[in-house]
Amino acid sequence: MAHSSIEADAPYWAALDEGRLVMPRCGHCGTWHWPAVARCGECGNWGVEWHDVAPEGTVFTWTRTWHPFGGTEGIGTPFVTLVVSIDGAGGKRLMGLLDGDDAGIAIGAKVKGVVGQTRFGDRAVPSFHWHLAN
Ligand SMILES: [Zn+2]
Repeated sequence: MAHSSIEADAPYWAALDEGRLVMPRCGHCGTWHWPAVARCGECGNWGVEWHDVAPEGTVFTWTRTWHPFGGTEGIGTPFVTLVVSIDGAGGKRLMGLLDGDDAGIAIGAKVKGVVGQTRFGDRAVPSFHWHLAN
């Protein structure tokens, strides 16, 4: 599903549609940003640059949802939602669902992501599906 956006995060969604992760970094001071910004809050530079980043990181936090709530009926319960600190983007954090065996899920666990889709209500939203890395 193609997304159109004129917001600061438009390159993120365009890359996700191609199966890639890109994250914004200030072209002057090198600070990674997420959520995306049009201007660096550290140095004031307007030149935010987008870089391909490996979808690999560390679980910052997670939760297991046992009961469906509005929009999640298509996911199936229980499901595990992660907040992942991205290794190659200064630890900036992305959310997503955990696929596969969740027996080793813990804060600090290493995960790798692939771009997939998540059903939310009547829409298929491009999103990261994370897997435990070891
Ligand atoms: Zn900067």
